Amino acid sequence: MACLMFGQVLQVLPKREVVVGIGSLKLDNLDTLIEKVLDGYLAYGPIAKDGEYAFELIKPGIKPYLGCAVTMLPAKHVLQPVNQMLFSFWLGNGFKIEEPALDTKLAILGISPCDVHAVLALDRVFGGTFVDPYYWERRKNTLIIAANCTEVARESFCTSWGTGPELYSNYDLLLTEIADGYLVEVGSSEGEEVVKDLGLSKATQSDLNDKALRLERARANSRKKLPITPNKLHKFLKDNFDHPAWVRNADVCFSCGNCTFACPTCYCADIRDEVRPSRNVGVRRAEWDSCQILEFSEVALGANFRRPRIDRFKHRALHKLSWMKQQYGLTGCVGCGRCVRWCPSWPERRGRITSLADPVEIVADLMEPREKFKIERPGSTIV
Ligand code: SF4
Ligand code: SF4
Repeated sequence: MACLMFGQVLQVLPKREVVVGIGSLKLDNLDTLIEKVLDGYLAYGPIAKDGEYAFELIKPGIKPYLGCAVTMLPAKHVLQPVNQMLFSFWLGNGFKIEEPALDTKLAILGISPCDVHAVLALDRVFGGTFVDPYYWERRKNTLIIAANCTEVARESFCTSWGTGPELYSNYDLLLTEIADGYLVEVGSSEGEEVVKDLGLSKATQSDLNDKALRLERARANSRKKLPITPNKLHKFLKDNFDHPAWVRNADVCFSCGNCTFACPTCYCADIRDEVRPSRNVGVRRAEWDSCQILEFSEVALGANFRRPRIDRFKHRALHKLSWMKQQYGLTGCVGCGRCVRWCPSWPERRGRITSLADPVEIVADLMEPREKFKIERPGSTIV
């Protein structure tokens, strides 16, 4: 493999040939597809774990869940591992580095539409001005087998962003649960290769109608919505930059970082060298990091650009809801609802299940009259 250093010229993700002729197919038994995928790929999917779902390696005999699973962590760890070795190095007698092989064929099976949109956002981040070749090597070897959501989880608000419950493009295969199996849509030649020997029958008009009906029902039943249209958010947030709701909310944030680790579009990592000077060897690692943690913005001599907690709280919300769109052209929130679920501050407000990290609640608070928020310590500087 070529030397993988940051800033290298972009290795563009090869545009996959979109298959138009094969049409929609019908899959009666999911096991046949899983077996075929496991034959050629290291596959990850939502697996039941401790009463929740987690994107984990699919092993023979363990079926991934293809309903609307707000998994504990999103599938981003397949493309950007929580802790990855970038390379090992030798310092003695001439500098030498060795990089890990990243050519394993990967598959993400059962990824939901909003999470696919999150992967597209990560593509912009890691494939833009500064390229992360580690992400990109994995990404171009990854098969996306998405699953439409025939019900929307109570924490999710994908319909506000248009990121779910239905996916229209950017998949290799797309599955939708129907009355007696799955409708399979093929989006690329790689996807076609997977299903071509499975002996699938052509889907009937009644199968297509079934899909349309289920997704329409999912849309209609999805209750959670952003209280403002996405195209008005940038100006709205700018106009409310000094709204007292920020202080009230930031004061009860634990700065734990859960909301960022769980978010499918958060991508920050800390890079550090672990060196064993006695043996002249070391490894460089990248490990997930969070802008909510105090030390994240610390620089030389202990200076910190976001020491007050409110600065970190605001940074996350504004980056997700506004700045990421300005920077990368795609929203930094896809409405998956993970931050709602995993924030330990879970106040029951307005009679809804919500949390401090919930983008819907953050916007709703900023719409309230300023006088409603009694601030005992204006301009909070709590760290
Ligand atoms: S901000 Fe929350 S709801 Fe939006 S994508 Fe991230 S985790 Fe999901
Ligand atoms: S908003 Fe919630 S999850 Fe995020 S850092 Fe604060 S307490 Fe933790």
